[in-house]
Amino acid sequence: MATKALGLIPVKNRVKLIETAYGRAGDRLVGILSELNPATFTAAIGGRARGRVNAIVRDLDAFAGKWARAAVREAYAEGSTFARTRLENIGAEKKPPAKFNPGRHERAIAALVSRTAGDLLKANRTIATSAGKYLSLLSLAAAEVRKVEAFEEVEVEAFADATLGKGIKRIVKRSIGGGPDAVSSLARGTISRMIKSYLLKKIAGADFITIKDRHYSLKSYSEMLARTGLREAQTKATKELCDQYDNDLVQFSQHDEPCGDCEQYEGEVFSISGKSDKYPELPPEAEPPVHPNCEHNLNPTSENALSWRSR
Ligand SMILES: [Zn+2]
Repeated sequence: MATKALGLIPVKNRVKLIETAYGRAGDRLVGILSELNPATFTAAIGGRARGRVNAIVRDLDAFAGKWARAAVREAYAEGSTFARTRLENIGAEKKPPAKFNPGRHERAIAALVSRTAGDLLKANRTIATSAGKYLSLLSLAAAEVRKVEAFEEVEVEAFADATLGKGIKRIVKRSIGGGPDAVSSLARGTISRMIKSYLLKKIAGADFITIKDRHYSLKSYSEMLARTGLREAQTKATKELCDQYDNDLVQFSQHDEPCGDCEQYEGEVFSISGKSDKYPELPPEAEPPVHPNCEHNLNPTSENALSWRSR
C-alpha cells in the first residue's frame, strides 16, 4: 500500500492529537470566559466574547472534519492489515473482484468518517450553546449587581438557569441582608467578585459539552468519541475483510483483565452471517467497542484454526 511515510500516524497518537486540540480549545474558552466580570460586563463585551467563542468552535469544526478523514482511514487500514494477516495465516482466500467489489472499503470508510465527524460537530454545537448560556448568565448577574447598588429588589427568577440563579440570589441576599447601610459598606466590587468566583466554579472543568443532559470536558469527550470511532472503524474493516476472504467466523479477543461488559464475550466465537450451525450469530452488542474506551477486537478465525489450536 502506498502511504506517505510522514503522513502515517499510529492510531493511538491520533487520539492524543484530538485530545490535545480539544483540551487547548477548552483552556482558551475558560480563559475568555473567566476574564469577564459581572461588575464591568456590558452587551458589547459579551458580544466580543461570543465572537471569540464562535471562532474557537469554527476552528474545532474544521479540525474535527480533517481529523476524522485522516484518523478513520488509518484505523480502518490498521484493522484491515491485522485482519488480512490473520486471514492469510488461517489459509483463507481472497474472493475475485467480481464477488467482492473492493470499492466497498472506500464506501465503508466514507460512512464511518461522516458519522465520526458528525458526532464531533454535534458536540461542538453544544460547546457554543454552553458558552452562550454562561454569557447570558453573566449579563443577568451584571444587571443584578447594578440593582444591588441601587438597593432594588433582586429578581432572580429572571435567571435562565434556576440552580445558578439561586446561587447568585443567596450571595446577593446575604449581601443586602443588613439593609442599605450594609450594602453601602459592601462595595459593588465585592458582591461582583463573589458572584464571579461562584460562576468560575461552574466552568472550572471546561465541561462545555452537553450530551443527553450530562456535561463533559472537551478533552475527555473528544477522546471518548475518537476511541469509539476508531475502534468501530477497525471492527468494520475486520468484517469487510472477512467478507472479502469468504470467512465467516470471528473470535472476540481475550485480555488479562476484561471489563464487566466484555467478560461474557471473551474468547467467544461468532458467525458473522449467522449461518453457522455451531456458533451463534455475532450480535451487534458484541461488536467492539462494546462500551466507551473498549480495547477489545474481533479476530478472524475458522473451524480449522480452532481445531488446530485445541489440539
Ligand atoms: Zn471491552
